[in-house]
Amino acid sequence: MAAAKLGKRVVVIDRDAQANGASVRNFGFITVTGQERGDMWRRACRTREVWAEVAAEASVPIQHQGLLLTARRPESVAVLEAFLRTEMGVGCRLLAVGDLERSHPGLTAPEVLAALWSPHELRVESREAIPRLADWLASRHGVTFLRETTALIVETSKVTTSRGVVEAEAIAVCPGDDMTSLFPDQIAAHGVTRCKLQMLRLADPGFRLSAGVMSDLGLARYAGYAALPEAAALRARLKLEQPGHLKHGVHLIVVQSADGSLVVGDSHHYAATPDPFACEAVDRLILDEFEAVFGRRTPRVTERWTGTYASAPDRSVVIDTPAPGVRIVMVTTGAGASIGFALGEEVAADLFGGGRHDR
Ligand SMILES: Cc1cc2nc3c(=O)[nH]c(=O)nc-3n(C[C@H](O)[C@H](O)[C@H](O)COP(=O)(O)OP(=O)(O)OC[C@H]3O[C@@H](n4cnc5c(N)ncnc54)[C@H](O)[C@@H]3O)c2cc1C
Repeated sequence: MAAAKLGKRVVVIDRDAQANGASVRNFGFITVTGQERGDMWRRACRTREVWAEVAAEASVPIQHQGLLLTARRPESVAVLEAFLRTEMGVGCRLLAVGDLERSHPGLTAPEVLAALWSPHELRVESREAIPRLADWLASRHGVTFLRETTALIVETSKVTTSRGVVEAEAIAVCPGDDMTSLFPDQIAAHGVTRCKLQMLRLADPGFRLSAGVMSDLGLARYAGYAALPEAAALRARLKLEQPGHLKHGVHLIVVQSADGSLVVGDSHHYAATPDPFACEAVDRLILDEFEAVFGRRTPRVTERWTGTYASAPDRSVVIDTPAPGVRIVMVTTGAGASIGFALGEEVAADLFGGGRHDR
């Protein structure tokens, strides 16, 4: 999109018939609060702005805005208070239980002590939003989509595909979690592996969420909170009280769709080729956390799926230059919907002149 907005003629080459990877399997939760301090938070702020503009132009409905992160432990409240003292706390505030219950009647769990309110987040229904964005890019910006076409070899100014050659002034290789088809050695040098997540959809619970919901477990996982010194005490307590959740990388995100159903997840398991099977015990851990946060039994499960994304141990983004005029671009943490547009702008500026270039 960034290249098209610079007036370039853009061709997207994708081997799938329609978007089928992480971008349609995710929560569609564009998060700012909780992203790692520095570049990630800055990119998330910018991406959120772009989503707001593009959603309006491309008729992508925003399902809800903002984040409520509920805290059931004093250690979690301490992390939230510390977070609010940072520059990332701008626009956010701590809600006492009474305020939370009055403004968000679905959240009535007896154990909840307080909640962080962040106004920044947006939620889109990815499985509808991504195809709609593609249609809008094609009709409004003249982007060509070559689907069911595999990029086999990428060289300066040239992509050899399963259906012929595409010539280009600049090439961005965005392989998602495919680490072996194009530039496998360069990608391996960044220590990239894959992360598998389990996701569920629950039937309409009978209440409307006005924001996405997260819990204490998110404070130990999202770098914007987890890197604060106050998070150490919370981590120690979670190790004692929720070791199963930590072992399976379970934390809670709950977002709502237009039909009232809830998308709930997730878990994190790492491997070069993760198995494709959703484990019931892991789903149960996710649903236990849902019950603790919402103070009610989980509604009926209507869908289950797994998704994978590229993951690197020590970096959230990989940008590499395997050949002049070519960039490998990968988001190597679960935040592509939240930082992708800003990253696209940086890479386009870099490729077409005048931009920054992170490695
Ligand atoms: C379950 C889950 C939940 C998530 N939740 C969130 C969230 O709420 N918020 C958030 O910000 N992020 C979230 N993420 C992360 C986010 O979805 C990803 O970071 C992002 O979608 C990655 O986008 P991508 O285009 O790189 O990869 P993908 O969406 O996987 O797309 C990659 C595409 O490249 C194609 N491809 C690869 N190699 C080739 C080739 N050689 N030739 C042709 N085509 C090729 C694939 O076929 C695929 O279509 C989540 C991820 C998952 C899995």
